[in-house]
Amino acid sequence: MPAKKSTRPAARELLFGNLWEFDPAPESAPAFIAPRYGLFINGKFTAPKSKKTFDSISPRNEEKLSEISLAGPADVDAAYQAAAKAFESWSRLPGTERAKYLFRIARLLQDRAREFAVAETLDGGKPIKESRDFDVPMAAAHFFYHAGWADKLSYVTPGRTLAPLGVIGQVIPWNFPLLMLAWKLAPALATGNTVVLKPAETTSITALKFASILQDAGLPPGVVNIVTGAGETGSAVVNHPLAAKIAFTGSTAVGKAIQRTLAGTGKRLTLELGGKAANIVFEDAPIDQAVEGIINGIFFNQGHVCCAGSRLLVQESIAEKVLSKLKIRLKTLRTGDPLDKNTDIGAINSKAQLDRISELVASGVADGADLYQPTCDLPKKGFYFPPTLFSNVTQSHRVAREEIFGPVLSILTFRTPEEAVEKANNTHYGLSAGVWTDKGSRILKLSTELKAGVVWANTFNKFDPTSPFGGYKESGFGREGGKQGLLDYATLI
Ligand code: NAP
Ligand code: MG
Repeated sequence: MPAKKSTRPAARELLFGNLWEFDPAPESAPAFIAPRYGLFINGKFTAPKSKKTFDSISPRNEEKLSEISLAGPADVDAAYQAAAKAFESWSRLPGTERAKYLFRIARLLQDRAREFAVAETLDGGKPIKESRDFDVPMAAAHFFYHAGWADKLSYVTPGRTLAPLGVIGQVIPWNFPLLMLAWKLAPALATGNTVVLKPAETTSITALKFASILQDAGLPPGVVNIVTGAGETGSAVVNHPLAAKIAFTGSTAVGKAIQRTLAGTGKRLTLELGGKAANIVFEDAPIDQAVEGIINGIFFNQGHVCCAGSRLLVQESIAEKVLSKLKIRLKTLRTGDPLDKNTDIGAINSKAQLDRISELVASGVADGADLYQPTCDLPKKGFYFPPTLFSNVTQSHRVAREEIFGPVLSILTFRTPEEAVEKANNTHYGLSAGVWTDKGSRILKLSTELKAGVVWANTFNKFDPTSPFGGYKESGFGREGGKQGLLDYATLI
Protein backbone atom coordinates (compact mmCIF):
# COMPACT_ATOMS: atom_id res chain seq x y z
CA MET A 1 0.00 0.00 0.00
CA PRO A 2 1.48 3.41 -0.90
CA ALA A 3 2.44 5.61 2.08
CA LYS A 4 -0.22 8.15 2.95
CA LYS A 5 0.87 11.67 1.96
CA SER A 6 1.11 14.02 4.93
CA THR A 7 -0.96 17.17 4.71
CA ARG A 8 1.04 18.84 7.50
CA PRO A 9 3.36 21.68 6.44
CA ALA A 10 7.02 20.73 6.30
CA ALA A 11 9.08 21.64 9.36
CA ARG A 12 11.05 24.35 7.57
CA GLU A 13 7.84 25.93 6.30
CA LEU A 14 6.52 26.05 9.89
CA LEU A 15 9.75 27.68 11.03
CA PHE A 16 10.33 30.15 8.21
CA GLY A 17 6.99 30.48 6.45
CA ASN A 18 7.09 30.41 2.64
CA LEU A 19 10.81 30.58 1.94
CA TRP A 20 10.39 32.48 -1.29
CA GLU A 21 8.45 35.39 0.18
CA PHE A 22 10.53 38.50 0.85
CA ASP A 23 9.51 41.65 2.65
CA PRO A 24 9.27 44.64 0.30
CA ALA A 25 12.64 46.38 -0.03
CA PRO A 26 12.02 49.54 -2.09
CA GLU A 27 15.04 51.54 -3.19
CA SER A 28 14.71 54.95 -1.57
CA ALA A 29 17.55 57.01 -3.09
CA PRO A 30 16.35 60.06 -5.10
CA ALA A 31 16.73 60.03 -8.89
CA PHE A 32 16.90 63.84 -9.31
CA ILE A 33 14.86 63.93 -12.50
CA ALA A 34 14.11 67.47 -13.72
CA PRO A 35 10.48 68.31 -14.59
CA ARG A 36 11.62 69.22 -18.11
CA TYR A 37 14.77 68.90 -20.21
CA GLY A 38 16.06 70.96 -23.11
CA LEU A 39 18.27 69.63 -25.88
CA PHE A 40 21.99 69.40 -25.08
CA ILE A 41 23.70 71.35 -27.85
CA ASN A 42 27.11 73.03 -27.78
CA GLY A 43 27.59 72.32 -24.07
CA LYS A 44 24.30 73.89 -22.97
CA PHE A 45 20.70 72.80 -22.45
CA THR A 46 18.64 74.73 -24.99
CA ALA A 47 14.92 75.03 -25.77
CA PRO A 48 14.04 73.23 -29.02
CA LYS A 49 13.57 75.39 -32.11
CA SER A 50 10.73 73.01 -32.98
CA LYS A 51 8.93 74.27 -29.82
CA LYS A 52 7.68 70.70 -29.36
CA THR A 53 7.96 68.41 -26.34
CA PHE A 54 6.81 64.93 -25.36
CA ASP A 55 6.28 63.17 -22.02
CA SER A 56 8.51 60.49 -20.58
CA ILE A 57 6.50 58.13 -18.42
CA SER A 58 7.56 55.38 -16.08
CA PRO A 59 6.52 51.89 -17.24
CA ARG A 60 6.57 50.98 -13.53
CA ASN A 61 3.28 52.82 -12.82
CA GLU A 62 2.55 54.93 -15.95
CA GLU A 63 3.27 58.17 -14.10
CA LYS A 64 4.81 61.11 -15.95
CA LEU A 65 8.48 61.57 -15.05
CA SER A 66 9.48 64.54 -17.16
CA GLU A 67 8.83 66.61 -20.26
CA ILE A 68 11.42 66.03 -22.98
CA SER A 69 12.24 68.33 -25.91
CA LEU A 70 11.54 67.06 -29.39
CA ALA A 71 14.38 67.92 -31.77
CA GLY A 72 13.29 68.90 -35.28
CA PRO A 73 15.57 69.15 -38.36
CA ALA A 74 16.76 72.68 -37.40
CA ASP A 75 17.75 71.42 -33.93
CA VAL A 76 19.58 68.44 -35.36
CA ASP A 77 21.36 70.80 -37.75
CA ALA A 78 22.43 73.06 -34.86
CA ALA A 79 23.82 69.97 -33.08
CA TYR A 80 25.83 68.95 -36.16
CA GLN A 81 27.17 72.50 -36.66
CA ALA A 82 28.35 72.53 -33.01
CA ALA A 83 29.93 69.09 -33.37
CA ALA A 84 31.71 70.06 -36.61
CA LYS A 85 33.16 73.17 -35.00
CA ALA A 86 34.25 71.23 -31.89
CA PHE A 87 35.92 68.59 -34.09
CA GLU A 88 38.53 71.14 -35.25
CA SER A 89 40.08 71.37 -31.77
CA TRP A 90 39.01 68.06 -30.14
CA SER A 91 40.58 65.99 -32.95
CA ARG A 92 43.90 67.82 -32.50
CA LEU A 93 44.01 67.47 -28.73
CA PRO A 94 46.79 65.10 -27.60
CA GLY A 95 45.49 61.67 -26.56
CA THR A 96 46.74 62.25 -23.03
CA GLU A 97 44.38 65.23 -22.73
CA ARG A 98 41.37 63.40 -24.20
CA ALA A 99 42.07 60.58 -21.74
CA LYS A 100 41.79 62.99 -18.81
CA TYR A 101 38.26 63.96 -19.83
CA LEU A 102 37.22 60.32 -20.24
CA PHE A 103 38.66 59.36 -16.84
CA ARG A 104 36.86 62.32 -15.28
CA ILE A 105 33.55 61.31 -16.89
CA ALA A 106 33.95 57.73 -15.63
CA ARG A 107 34.68 58.87 -12.08
CA LEU A 108 31.79 61.36 -12.02
CA LEU A 109 29.44 58.61 -13.16
CA GLN A 110 30.71 56.36 -10.38
CA ASP A 111 30.15 59.18 -7.86
CA ARG A 112 26.51 59.44 -8.93
CA ALA A 113 25.99 55.72 -9.56
CA ARG A 114 23.04 55.23 -7.22
CA GLU A 115 21.12 58.22 -8.55
CA PHE A 116 21.67 57.06 -12.14
CA ALA A 117 20.58 53.51 -11.28
CA VAL A 118 17.29 54.76 -9.79
CA ALA A 119 16.65 57.07 -12.77
CA GLU A 120 17.35 54.22 -15.22
CA THR A 121 14.94 51.93 -13.40
CA LEU A 122 12.19 54.55 -13.18
CA ASP A 123 12.49 55.51 -16.83
CA GLY A 124 13.05 52.12 -18.42
CA GLY A 125 11.48 49.61 -16.00
CA LYS A 126 14.48 47.33 -15.41
CA PRO A 127 15.00 45.90 -11.90
CA ILE A 128 17.05 48.14 -9.64
CA LYS A 129 19.46 45.29 -8.90
CA GLU A 130 20.34 45.20 -12.61
CA SER A 131 20.69 48.96 -13.16
CA ARG A 132 22.69 49.20 -9.90
CA ASP A 133 24.94 46.15 -10.43
CA PHE A 134 25.19 45.99 -14.21
CA ASP A 135 24.12 48.99 -16.32
CA VAL A 136 25.74 51.83 -14.40
CA PRO A 137 29.02 50.12 -13.37
CA MET A 138 29.41 48.72 -16.88
CA ALA A 139 28.83 52.16 -18.41
CA ALA A 140 31.57 53.60 -16.18
CA ALA A 141 33.82 50.65 -17.10
CA HIS A 142 33.49 51.52 -20.79
CA PHE A 143 34.69 55.08 -20.16
CA PHE A 144 37.60 53.84 -18.00
CA TYR A 145 38.61 51.29 -20.63
CA HIS A 146 38.53 53.76 -23.51
CA ALA A 147 40.27 56.45 -21.43
CA GLY A 148 43.15 53.99 -21.24
CA TRP A 149 43.31 53.72 -25.03
CA ALA A 150 43.09 57.46 -25.85
CA ASP A 151 46.86 58.05 -25.57
CA LYS A 152 47.88 54.59 -26.83
CA LEU A 153 46.15 54.53 -30.21
CA SER A 154 49.49 54.01 -31.98
CA TYR A 155 49.62 50.54 -30.37
CA VAL A 156 46.28 49.45 -31.85
CA THR A 157 47.79 48.94 -35.30
CA PRO A 158 51.58 49.17 -34.95
CA GLY A 159 53.21 51.04 -37.82
CA ARG A 160 49.96 52.78 -38.81
CA THR A 161 48.26 55.79 -37.25
CA LEU A 162 44.58 55.94 -36.32
CA ALA A 163 42.89 59.19 -37.30
CA PRO A 164 39.36 60.24 -36.27
CA LEU A 165 36.56 60.27 -38.85
CA GLY A 166 34.76 63.52 -37.98
CA VAL A 167 31.24 63.99 -36.63
CA ILE A 168 29.53 60.71 -35.74
CA GLY A 169 25.72 60.40 -35.71
CA GLN A 170 24.62 57.84 -33.13
CA VAL A 171 21.13 56.41 -32.58
CA ILE A 172 20.45 54.05 -29.67
CA PRO A 173 17.55 51.89 -28.35
CA TRP A 174 15.65 51.74 -25.05
CA ASN A 175 16.78 48.45 -23.54
CA PHE A 176 20.12 49.61 -22.06
CA PRO A 177 19.83 53.40 -22.42
CA LEU A 178 22.88 54.52 -20.43
CA LEU A 179 25.02 51.53 -21.32
CA MET A 180 24.38 51.88 -25.06
CA LEU A 181 25.27 55.56 -24.74
CA ALA A 182 28.57 54.54 -23.11
CA TRP A 183 29.26 51.88 -25.78
CA LYS A 184 28.81 54.58 -28.42
CA LEU A 185 30.37 57.69 -26.87
CA ALA A 186 33.48 56.25 -25.21
CA PRO A 187 35.22 54.82 -28.32
CA ALA A 188 34.12 57.78 -30.49
CA LEU A 189 35.64 60.31 -28.08
CA ALA A 190 38.76 58.27 -27.34
CA THR A 191 39.62 58.24 -31.05
CA GLY A 192 39.06 62.01 -31.40
CA ASN A 193 35.62 62.22 -33.01
CA THR A 194 32.72 64.45 -31.97
CA VAL A 195 29.15 63.24 -31.66
CA VAL A 196 25.45 63.90 -32.18
CA LEU A 197 23.53 61.24 -30.24
CA LYS A 198 19.82 60.41 -30.16
CA PRO A 199 18.48 58.26 -27.30
CA ALA A 200 15.22 56.31 -27.69
CA GLU A 201 11.98 58.21 -27.17
CA THR A 202 10.90 56.18 -24.12
CA THR A 203 14.27 56.37 -22.34
CA SER A 204 15.90 59.78 -22.76
CA ILE A 205 16.34 60.68 -19.09
CA THR A 206 19.70 59.12 -18.20
CA ALA A 207 21.23 60.48 -21.41
CA LEU A 208 20.11 63.99 -20.40
CA LYS A 209 21.35 63.51 -16.84
CA PHE A 210 24.61 62.30 -18.37
CA ALA A 211 24.87 65.64 -20.20
CA SER A 212 25.26 67.29 -16.79
CA ILE A 213 28.21 64.96 -16.09
CA LEU A 214 29.79 66.16 -19.34
CA GLN A 215 29.35 69.74 -18.13
CA ASP A 216 30.86 68.90 -14.74
CA ALA A 217 33.78 67.17 -16.47
CA GLY A 218 34.43 70.40 -18.41
CA LEU A 219 34.16 68.64 -21.77
CA PRO A 220 34.58 71.32 -24.45
CA PRO A 221 31.22 72.53 -25.89
CA GLY A 222 30.00 70.68 -28.96
CA VAL A 223 32.09 67.52 -28.48
CA VAL A 224 28.91 65.66 -27.46
CA ASN A 225 25.43 66.85 -28.43
CA ILE A 226 22.27 65.04 -27.36
CA VAL A 227 19.08 65.46 -29.38
CA THR A 228 15.91 63.82 -28.10
CA GLY A 229 12.87 62.73 -30.07
CA ALA A 230 11.40 59.71 -31.85
CA GLY A 231 12.07 58.03 -35.21
CA GLU A 232 11.87 61.25 -37.24
CA THR A 233 14.61 62.82 -35.13
CA GLY A 234 16.64 59.63 -35.63
CA SER A 235 16.13 59.91 -39.35
CA ALA A 236 17.32 63.56 -39.32
CA VAL A 237 20.47 62.45 -37.44
CA VAL A 238 21.15 59.64 -39.91
CA ASN A 239 20.60 61.77 -43.00
CA HIS A 240 22.50 64.92 -42.02
CA PRO A 241 25.18 65.75 -44.63
CA LEU A 242 27.83 66.54 -41.97
CA ALA A 243 27.81 62.99 -40.56
CA ALA A 244 31.04 61.13 -41.37
CA LYS A 245 29.69 57.92 -39.89
CA ILE A 246 26.43 56.56 -38.48
CA ALA A 247 26.49 54.12 -35.57
CA PHE A 248 23.07 52.57 -35.03
CA THR A 249 21.76 50.09 -32.48
CA GLY A 250 18.16 49.01 -32.85
CA SER A 251 15.85 46.82 -34.87
CA THR A 252 16.81 45.04 -38.08
CA ALA A 253 13.96 46.74 -39.97
CA VAL A 254 15.22 50.26 -39.18
CA GLY A 255 18.84 49.14 -39.68
CA LYS A 256 18.01 47.95 -43.21
CA ALA A 257 16.25 51.23 -44.01
CA ILE A 258 19.30 53.18 -42.82
CA GLN A 259 21.65 51.04 -44.90
CA ARG A 260 19.51 51.73 -47.98
CA THR A 261 19.49 55.51 -47.47
CA LEU A 262 23.24 55.67 -46.79
CA ALA A 263 24.21 53.57 -49.81
CA GLY A 264 26.40 55.66 -52.12
CA THR A 265 26.83 58.58 -49.69
CA GLY A 266 30.35 57.59 -48.62
CA LYS A 267 29.34 57.69 -44.94
CA ARG A 268 30.70 54.90 -42.76
CA LEU A 269 28.09 52.73 -41.04
CA THR A 270 27.96 50.19 -38.22
CA LEU A 271 24.75 48.36 -37.32
CA GLU A 272 24.03 46.49 -34.08
CA LEU A 273 20.65 44.87 -34.70
CA GLY A 274 18.35 42.16 -33.39
CA GLY A 275 18.94 38.54 -32.45
CA LYS A 276 17.34 35.16 -31.78
CA ALA A 277 20.13 33.38 -29.96
CA ALA A 278 20.30 29.64 -29.47
CA ASN A 279 21.30 28.47 -26.01
CA ILE A 280 22.37 24.84 -26.58
CA VAL A 281 22.40 22.37 -23.68
CA PHE A 282 24.02 18.94 -24.15
CA GLU A 283 23.23 15.94 -21.96
CA ASP A 284 26.72 16.02 -20.38
CA ALA A 285 26.28 19.62 -19.14
CA PRO A 286 26.09 20.48 -15.44
CA ILE A 287 22.29 20.63 -15.53
CA ASP A 288 21.59 22.90 -12.57
CA GLN A 289 24.21 25.42 -13.70
CA ALA A 290 22.74 25.29 -17.18
CA VAL A 291 19.27 25.98 -15.75
CA GLU A 292 20.62 29.11 -14.04
CA GLY A 293 22.30 30.11 -17.31
CA ILE A 294 19.06 29.60 -19.24
CA ILE A 295 17.14 31.72 -16.70
CA ASN A 296 19.72 34.50 -16.82
CA GLY A 297 19.97 34.20 -20.61
CA ILE A 298 16.29 34.95 -21.22
CA PHE A 299 14.94 36.80 -18.18
CA PHE A 300 17.76 39.33 -17.68
CA ASN A 301 16.27 42.79 -18.32
CA GLN A 302 12.81 41.23 -18.97
CA GLY A 303 14.29 39.64 -22.09
CA HIS A 304 14.76 43.08 -23.67
CA VAL A 305 18.22 41.97 -24.73
CA CYS A 306 19.39 41.73 -28.34
CA CYS A 307 21.62 38.74 -27.47
CA ALA A 308 19.03 37.05 -25.18
CA GLY A 309 19.11 33.24 -25.22
CA SER A 310 15.53 33.15 -26.48
CA ARG A 311 15.72 29.73 -28.21
CA LEU A 312 16.66 26.90 -25.88
CA LEU A 313 17.98 23.89 -27.78
CA VAL A 314 18.13 21.01 -25.33
CA GLN A 315 19.31 17.46 -26.06
CA GLU A 316 16.30 15.14 -26.20
CA SER A 317 17.58 12.75 -23.52
CA ILE A 318 17.49 15.48 -20.82
CA ALA A 319 14.68 17.64 -22.20
CA GLU A 320 12.02 16.55 -19.71
CA LYS A 321 14.33 16.98 -16.75
CA VAL A 322 15.44 20.45 -17.85
CA LEU A 323 11.84 21.53 -18.48
CA SER A 324 10.67 20.43 -15.03
CA LYS A 325 13.62 22.19 -13.36
CA LEU A 326 12.91 25.35 -15.35
CA LYS A 327 9.28 25.33 -14.25
CA ILE A 328 10.30 25.05 -10.58
CA ARG A 329 12.83 27.87 -11.02
CA LEU A 330 10.27 30.10 -12.75
CA LYS A 331 8.00 29.89 -9.70
CA THR A 332 10.73 31.51 -7.62
CA LEU A 333 11.24 34.53 -9.90
CA ARG A 334 9.73 37.70 -8.51
CA THR A 335 8.01 39.83 -11.14
CA GLY A 336 6.85 43.31 -10.17
CA ASP A 337 7.97 46.73 -8.98
CA PRO A 338 11.41 47.28 -10.54
CA LEU A 339 12.35 49.63 -7.68
CA ASP A 340 12.14 46.73 -5.21
CA LYS A 341 15.60 45.31 -4.56
CA ASN A 342 14.18 41.76 -4.56
CA THR A 343 12.61 42.02 -8.01
CA ASP A 344 13.98 39.71 -10.72
CA ILE A 345 11.70 40.75 -13.60
CA GLY A 346 10.64 44.40 -13.73
CA ALA A 347 8.33 46.35 -16.02
CA ILE A 348 8.10 45.96 -19.80
CA ASN A 349 9.50 49.17 -21.29
CA SER A 350 6.36 50.45 -23.00
CA LYS A 351 2.74 49.65 -23.76
CA ALA A 352 3.71 49.10 -27.41
CA GLN A 353 6.31 46.50 -26.43
CA LEU A 354 3.87 44.79 -24.04
CA ASP A 355 1.34 44.53 -26.89
CA ARG A 356 3.98 43.06 -29.19
CA ILE A 357 4.98 40.42 -26.62
CA SER A 358 1.32 39.54 -25.95
CA GLU A 359 0.63 39.19 -29.68
CA LEU A 360 3.60 36.86 -30.22
CA VAL A 361 2.73 34.74 -27.18
CA ALA A 362 -0.83 34.39 -28.49
CA SER A 363 0.64 33.22 -31.82
CA GLY A 364 2.66 30.55 -29.96
CA VAL A 365 -0.51 29.18 -28.40
CA ALA A 366 -2.36 29.32 -31.72
CA ASP A 367 0.53 27.52 -33.47
CA GLY A 368 0.21 24.66 -30.94
CA ALA A 369 3.20 25.10 -28.61
CA ASP A 370 2.70 24.34 -24.89
CA LEU A 371 2.60 27.46 -22.72
CA TYR A 372 3.76 27.58 -19.10
CA GLN A 373 3.48 30.66 -16.87
CA PRO A 374 3.72 30.55 -13.07
CA THR A 375 0.98 32.36 -11.17
CA CYS A 376 2.16 35.92 -10.57
CA ASP A 377 0.55 38.73 -8.66
CA LEU A 378 1.32 41.52 -11.14
CA PRO A 379 0.91 45.20 -10.21
CA LYS A 380 -2.36 46.71 -11.47
CA LYS A 381 -0.75 49.85 -12.94
CA GLY A 382 2.23 49.75 -15.26
CA PHE A 383 3.32 47.29 -17.96
CA TYR A 384 4.08 43.77 -16.77
CA PHE A 385 4.35 40.31 -18.31
CA PRO A 386 4.94 37.03 -16.43
CA PRO A 387 7.97 34.83 -17.20
CA THR A 388 6.86 32.45 -19.94
CA LEU A 389 8.03 29.11 -21.34
CA PHE A 390 6.97 27.47 -24.58
CA SER A 391 7.77 23.77 -24.97
CA ASN A 392 7.02 21.53 -27.99
CA VAL A 393 8.10 24.37 -30.24
CA THR A 394 9.00 23.65 -33.86
CA GLN A 395 11.25 25.63 -36.19
CA SER A 396 8.28 26.97 -38.14
CA HIS A 397 6.55 28.59 -35.14
CA ARG A 398 6.76 32.37 -35.03
CA VAL A 399 7.99 32.17 -31.42
CA ALA A 400 11.00 30.22 -32.73
CA ARG A 401 11.76 32.62 -35.57
CA GLU A 402 10.86 36.17 -34.55
CA GLU A 403 12.58 38.26 -31.96
CA ILE A 404 10.09 38.63 -29.07
CA PHE A 405 12.26 40.96 -26.96
CA GLY A 406 10.41 39.93 -23.82
CA PRO A 407 10.51 37.32 -21.00
CA VAL A 408 9.54 34.42 -23.26
CA LEU A 409 11.63 31.28 -23.85
CA SER A 410 10.99 28.88 -26.73
CA ILE A 411 12.23 25.32 -26.15
CA LEU A 412 13.24 23.01 -28.98
CA THR A 413 15.08 19.68 -28.83
CA PHE A 414 17.87 18.01 -30.78
CA ARG A 415 19.53 14.59 -30.88
CA THR A 416 23.02 15.11 -32.34
CA PRO A 417 25.55 17.97 -32.28
CA GLU A 418 25.08 18.34 -36.05
CA GLU A 419 21.35 18.81 -35.61
CA ALA A 420 21.98 21.36 -32.83
CA VAL A 421 24.24 23.45 -35.10
CA GLU A 422 21.84 23.16 -38.03
CA LYS A 423 18.90 24.35 -35.92
CA ALA A 424 20.90 27.06 -34.16
CA ASN A 425 22.03 28.55 -37.47
CA ASN A 426 18.58 28.29 -39.04
CA THR A 427 17.75 31.97 -38.45
CA HIS A 428 18.23 35.31 -40.20
CA TYR A 429 20.06 36.54 -37.13
CA GLY A 430 23.57 35.84 -35.84
CA LEU A 431 24.36 37.84 -32.75
CA SER A 432 25.10 35.36 -29.97
CA ALA A 433 24.86 31.72 -28.89
CA GLY A 434 25.50 29.62 -25.79
CA VAL A 435 26.89 26.10 -25.45
CA TRP A 436 26.59 24.01 -22.28
CA THR A 437 28.71 20.85 -22.23
CA ASP A 438 31.46 19.13 -20.28
CA LYS A 439 33.60 18.69 -23.42
CA GLY A 440 36.12 21.41 -24.26
CA SER A 441 36.64 20.02 -27.77
CA ARG A 442 32.91 20.27 -28.48
CA ILE A 443 32.89 23.89 -27.32
CA LEU A 444 35.77 24.75 -29.67
CA LYS A 445 34.15 22.94 -32.60
CA LEU A 446 30.77 24.61 -32.08
CA SER A 447 32.32 28.03 -31.59
CA THR A 448 33.53 27.90 -35.18
CA GLU A 449 30.37 26.29 -36.60
CA LEU A 450 27.83 28.60 -34.95
CA LYS A 451 27.24 31.69 -37.06
CA ALA A 452 27.10 34.15 -34.19
CA GLY A 453 29.28 37.11 -33.24
CA VAL A 454 29.60 35.94 -29.63
CA VAL A 455 29.56 32.33 -28.41
CA TRP A 456 29.43 31.82 -24.65
CA ALA A 457 30.50 28.48 -23.18
CA ASN A 458 28.96 27.24 -19.90
CA THR A 459 27.83 30.79 -19.20
CA PHE A 460 25.62 33.42 -20.85
CA ASN A 461 25.25 37.21 -21.08
CA LYS A 462 28.80 37.98 -19.99
CA PHE A 463 30.12 41.37 -21.10
CA ASP A 464 33.40 43.20 -20.82
CA PRO A 465 34.60 46.43 -22.46
CA THR A 466 37.75 44.64 -23.66
CA SER A 467 35.72 42.09 -25.61
CA PRO A 468 34.32 43.02 -29.04
CA PHE A 469 30.57 42.56 -29.47
CA GLY A 470 28.63 42.50 -32.73
CA GLY A 471 26.74 40.41 -35.23
CA TYR A 472 26.63 38.28 -38.34
CA LYS A 473 23.91 38.22 -41.01
CA GLU A 474 20.84 40.35 -40.14
CA SER A 475 22.22 41.08 -36.68
CA GLY A 476 24.42 43.72 -38.30
CA PHE A 477 28.10 44.49 -38.79
CA GLY A 478 30.84 46.33 -36.95
CA ARG A 479 32.08 45.70 -33.42
CA GLU A 480 31.76 47.57 -30.13
CA GLY A 481 34.37 47.13 -27.42
CA GLY A 482 37.98 45.99 -27.59
CA LYS A 483 40.53 47.06 -30.20
CA GLN A 484 38.10 46.11 -32.98
CA GLY A 485 35.61 48.65 -31.65
CA LEU A 486 38.21 51.43 -31.86
CA LEU A 487 38.93 50.62 -35.49
CA ASP A 488 35.27 51.23 -36.34
CA TYR A 489 35.68 54.87 -35.23
CA ALA A 490 38.92 55.60 -37.06
CA THR A 491 40.65 55.60 -40.37
CA LEU A 492 44.18 54.25 -40.86
CA ILE A 493 46.81 56.65 -42.22
P1 NAP B 1 14.17 50.65 -33.20
O1 NAP B 1 12.74 50.88 -33.33
O2 NAP B 1 14.93 50.27 -34.40
O3 NAP B 1 14.77 51.96 -32.54
C1 NAP B 1 16.14 52.14 -32.30
C2 NAP B 1 16.44 53.62 -32.35
O4 NAP B 1 16.24 54.10 -33.69
C3 NAP B 1 15.52 54.46 -31.48
O5 NAP B 1 16.25 55.56 -30.98
C4 NAP B 1 14.47 54.90 -32.48
O6 NAP B 1 13.75 56.04 -32.08
C5 NAP B 1 15.31 55.16 -33.70
N1 NAP B 1 14.59 55.13 -34.97
C6 NAP B 1 13.35 54.66 -35.26
N2 NAP B 1 13.07 54.81 -36.56
C7 NAP B 1 14.15 55.41 -37.14
C8 NAP B 1 14.48 55.84 -38.47
N3 NAP B 1 13.64 55.66 -39.48
N4 NAP B 1 15.70 56.39 -38.68
C9 NAP B 1 16.57 56.55 -37.68
N5 NAP B 1 16.32 56.20 -36.39
C10 NAP B 1 15.12 55.62 -36.12
O7 NAP B 1 14.49 49.53 -32.12
P2 NAP B 1 13.96 49.45 -30.65
O8 NAP B 1 12.62 48.83 -30.71
O9 NAP B 1 14.11 50.74 -29.95
O10 NAP B 1 15.03 48.48 -30.00
C11 NAP B 1 14.88 47.12 -29.99
C12 NAP B 1 15.76 46.50 -31.06
O11 NAP B 1 17.13 46.87 -30.89
C13 NAP B 1 15.73 45.02 -30.98
O12 NAP B 1 15.54 44.49 -32.25
C14 NAP B 1 17.10 44.66 -30.45
O13 NAP B 1 17.56 43.41 -30.79
C15 NAP B 1 17.96 45.75 -30.97
N6 NAP B 1 19.15 45.93 -30.13
C16 NAP B 1 20.35 45.50 -30.61
C17 NAP B 1 21.50 45.62 -29.85
C18 NAP B 1 22.83 45.14 -30.38
O14 NAP B 1 23.85 45.50 -29.83
N7 NAP B 1 22.85 44.38 -31.43
C19 NAP B 1 21.44 46.18 -28.59
C20 NAP B 1 20.20 46.61 -28.12
C21 NAP B 1 19.05 46.48 -28.92
P3 NAP B 1 12.51 55.93 -31.06
O15 NAP B 1 12.60 54.65 -30.32
O16 NAP B 1 12.71 57.09 -30.20
O17 NAP B 1 11.27 56.01 -31.88
MG1 MG C 1 10.26 56.17 -19.95
